[in-house]
Amino acid sequence: MSTMVTDAEIKDGLWAFKAFKAPRPNGLHVGFFKRFWLIVGDSMKAKVKKALRECKIPEYLNRTNFLHNSIGVGECLVKRCISESDTCPLCQREPESILHRLRDSVNSRQTWERLGISPTNSFYVGNLIHWLEKNCKDNTCGLREQPPWKILFYFTIWLLWKHRNDVVCRNQCAQSNAQREALFRALEFLHCGLNVKISGCRKVVRMRWEKPQVGWARLNIDGTALGNPGRSGCGGLIRNSQGEWMGGFSRRLGCSNSFIAELWALRDGLNLCHELNLNAVEIHLDASAIYCLTPIQSF
Ligand SMILES: [Zn+2]
Repeated sequence: MSTMVTDAEIKDGLWAFKAFKAPRPNGLHVGFFKRFWLIVGDSMKAKVKKALRECKIPEYLNRTNFLHNSIGVGECLVKRCISESDTCPLCQREPESILHRLRDSVNSRQTWERLGISPTNSFYVGNLIHWLEKNCKDNTCGLREQPPWKILFYFTIWLLWKHRNDVVCRNQCAQSNAQREALFRALEFLHCGLNVKISGCRKVVRMRWEKPQVGWARLNIDGTALGNPGRSGCGGLIRNSQGEWMGGFSRRLGCSNSFIAELWALRDGLNLCHELNLNAVEIHLDASAIYCLTPIQSF
């Protein structure tokens, strides 16, 4: 190449892709990189320029995908003469095909069943291509306030693969909560990556601060951003059952969005509760997205 690619050309190249075109090996779609261009743009531009300068694409970016049937499960490694055994490293019983890893093995089935797919569902039938195509196009929402199935599906298969590698390569214990992490990440992507608002009817509610029960404290938190992304901050305070001030905090967050600001508020609030050694705290916040992501309602 006679001239180096410009920043604008790299950005134009990315923008030429649709949001849900093939995810990178880390499972993130083009839509994510477009949405967070202000944050990830510089490092992405540097990587592209380095690859072009050195005429070499980093191995981790050049990985082949599921559809090429060459993801590094036992069967594929044997075909490529990298391994002698195709036995599944987790169950040690069956050959490890891609479908075994992502759909048919005991722990994968557990994950899908926890996501609401019954053992007799046709989900467990069909070859790899058919299975991926069908689920990657399924835009239906299961339970109320859950992300579209195709997003949840992407994150689940990525996490199943990632957890397998954590066990095999990092000697970590097999995890049984992939479905929870998948749901968390899919919701995060939905709100931060695509900025989709969860549908719901809007209603005006009159409210005021009420004292918590005797022996309890109440943590009120909020986070906000002027724009998306934009200047943002968060704060909160804790009062006891007499309404007396116990502690408070505020934080400037720089350029962020309201979802991240709310998460920071929750994090700082929980840290403050911990510092004050509080055992019974009601948490009040006005962000339904955070509420959906948080498994606890009070502690
Ligand atoms: Zn297995």
